[in-house]
Amino acid sequence: MSVDRFTKAQFEEALPEGRWEPRGVVGNEYVYAIPVTGQRLKEGELEIRVHSSVNARTDVSDGVGENSIRVYLYSPKWHVPVWKKGRWVTRQPGWEDRLLDLLRKAYGLGLTAARCRCGELQATYVSKTWKNPGRRFRKCLSCGQWGGWVD
Ligand SMILES: [Zn+2]
Repeated sequence: MSVDRFTKAQFEEALPEGRWEPRGVVGNEYVYAIPVTGQRLKEGELEIRVHSSVNARTDVSDGVGENSIRVYLYSPKWHVPVWKKGRWVTRQPGWEDRLLDLLRKAYGLGLTAARCRCGELQATYVSKTWKNPGRRFRKCLSCGQWGGWVD
C-alpha cells in the first residue's frame, strides 16, 4: 500500500487553522500541539500532541514502514501523555481528513478529562495485569490516586 509523502508546509496546512502551535523536533520529527481549552480545564493544562512523521532533516514525511502520524493528549505540566493507546493515522491518501477526525475525537476526550479529588487531572492507562489485560483505567497525575476503570 502506498503512502503519501508530504512536506512540513503541507502537514501544517492539514492542521486546524489558527489552533496549532509548533513544539519543535522530537525524535527527528516535527511535533505540534493543539491546546484544549474548556470550562473544566485550566489554561495550558492539557493539549493534543501531534507527531507529524515529517523528518526534520529532509522536511518530507518518512517512507513506508516508518513512523505514522500519532495523536495523543498530553499534560505540559507533568510531561506525560494523558491518553495515548493506539491513536495513529495512516498516511495513505485521505490522511488529512482522518487526521482531523482523530483530532476532533481527541479534543472531545480532552474536554471530558476526569479530575482527581486533589484537583489534578487523571490520566488514562491500559492495564497490563493478568486479571485485566488491556482494560483502561484512570489514575491521578499528581497523587497517584486510583480513578476507576474507564469501561
Ligand atoms: Zn490526585
